[in-house]
Amino acid sequence: MKTAIATVSISGTLTEKLEAIAAAGFDGIEIFEQDFITDIGSARDVGNRIRDQGLEISLFQPFRDFEGLPEELRVKAFDRAERKFDLMQDLGADLVLVCSSVHPKALGGIDRAADDLRELGERAAARGLRIGYEALAWGRHVNDHRDAWEIVRRADHDSVGIILDSFHTLGRGLDPESIRRIPGDKIFFVQMADAPKIDMDLLYWSRHFRNMPGEGDLPVTDFMRAVLAAGYTGPVSLEIFNDQFRGGSPNTIARDGYRSLMALLDDVRRQEPDVPAPLPVMPARQRIDGTSFIEFATRGADGDQLRAQLTALGFAQTGKHMAKAVTLWQQGDIRIVVNEEEGDFAGTAYNMHGTSVCDVGLAVSSASETLERAKALGARGFTQQPALGQLDIPAIRGLGGSLLHVLDDSHASVWTREFGAEPKGPKGAGLQAVDHIAQTLTYDEMLSWSLFYGTLFDMEKSPMVDVIDPDGLVRSQALSTPEGRFRITLNGAETHRTLAGAFLADSFGAPVQHIAFTTEDIFASAEALASAGFDPLPIPGNYYDDLASRFDIPSEKLARMKTLQILYDAEDGQEFFQSYSRPFQGGIFFEIVQRASGYRGYGAPNAPFRIAAQKRLAPAKGMPRI
Ligand code: MG
Ligand code: MG
Repeated sequence: MKTAIATVSISGTLTEKLEAIAAAGFDGIEIFEQDFITDIGSARDVGNRIRDQGLEISLFQPFRDFEGLPEELRVKAFDRAERKFDLMQDLGADLVLVCSSVHPKALGGIDRAADDLRELGERAAARGLRIGYEALAWGRHVNDHRDAWEIVRRADHDSVGIILDSFHTLGRGLDPESIRRIPGDKIFFVQMADAPKIDMDLLYWSRHFRNMPGEGDLPVTDFMRAVLAAGYTGPVSLEIFNDQFRGGSPNTIARDGYRSLMALLDDVRRQEPDVPAPLPVMPARQRIDGTSFIEFATRGADGDQLRAQLTALGFAQTGKHMAKAVTLWQQGDIRIVVNEEEGDFAGTAYNMHGTSVCDVGLAVSSASETLERAKALGARGFTQQPALGQLDIPAIRGLGGSLLHVLDDSHASVWTREFGAEPKGPKGAGLQAVDHIAQTLTYDEMLSWSLFYGTLFDMEKSPMVDVIDPDGLVRSQALSTPEGRFRITLNGAETHRTLAGAFLADSFGAPVQHIAFTTEDIFASAEALASAGFDPLPIPGNYYDDLASRFDIPSEKLARMKTLQILYDAEDGQEFFQSYSRPFQGGIFFEIVQRASGYRGYGAPNAPFRIAAQKRLAPAKGMPRI
């Protein structure tokens, strides 16, 4: 099945757009007329440049305010159409999108519109061109794909078909099931867009907030299922108007688009197996069974400090790599790899970000299938094996230059073979596993990352949460596997004055700001850590007074929480306890959590107090090096 994307969906000059679209793997483009007009090349030149990139022009758009006009304006509309047909022939485009009219003088009437389209189809056919009619959600008389289809049906011309746009149907809350009754060969083109659920004017919503399928809240899979079940086999295209994307990197947006389309088509193939369209075949979204390891890049005195911090948290060095300056630190099922090599991936990461997480290893159902799916979704593989050098462990480049290794049962021997270590670590302070990894990024990158995880792995998104920092807002989006074996929080900073923003600026984009470990008994763990010299993040007494007013916590328990600096949250009787380390080296910190009876959140109500406490420890600029 061919894929395309509208040139309006991404930023840059036409040349930059074409290069990014071709590199991402698309077969064609919808050329938005404005992108042609702003270019200095002639229509023939532009058409040739598009084809030189290996792309076809799947659609020319838009042709507006055509149907239902009174006679004088009608004649002019046909003249206008003839001139656009000239242009299309020079470009080498054979299909034009005619969107339903918003002209104030347009007259209603299905037969009147059908007559206009039939005549336009006749004129187009004389030049070997075709007409696709699309119902805009805010069209003056036609705003529903069912009406657009009735007009196309009555126009009854081989060169006139319907164009379906998921936003115009789903944005109005129309049931996509009705699409199944349209003959597939009368659907000339399909445009896909998702959008977050926001209650606002349709036109404004559409022009500014569309996003890639899977990034929003519309039932785009149901829409695509209906389209393909109708027998449609033409191109599937993305038409995304989004303020963020207009200012984003053309390559990132194009790659995200390709990833979202491939994942969507794969979902449809699984749910609607008998469609005639040839759909991409790839392994299913992969199950994550947990975090296999977290690897830090560090060096010298910074490395000493990291090791001291790990020791204070109850970790023990359990192994040393057979060939590299890399040590393994364990506690329960947690593995921290400390990499001090200078020349490799970790060395580069340290030079760039200082002490930072350079690699995360995920335990997955099948490492090779994960890699295969990642490649089908357009991700790049990575060949150098950073710390774990001898076994062939597949790695995927995440976003922002980070790395994800995926390990399955076939890699179980790596810790013994390469580090001389046991699979399970000592009990330490009772920390058992990685609960979540918190990643800091700019707000603009959030959709990319959540799409990355959500399309590759079996993960669910939680609703986005606003976290109040004393100096700005941070938006937090969590993704979790169904059983919570792997959780990630994406914290999008809009200003460098927030804790997350300062970390991002000072570390030049280091991906991970904090790591949370689970314990079954946070009181026992906190006491064990305190006696080993661990210095938790101090939380003000006011916080505990407020807790006493909000929750029914026995006073003795509350007093222990206050002594041990443990924070608390509860939802529907499910309790959550958390405590934090002090930030070190540019702002990295650790968290300890206890989830009781299925609590699924991250203690978001506590985040403002935690951030304020961390900032109190920080000097005016950046975080302290303790
Ligand atoms: Mg459209
Ligand atoms: Mg956290």
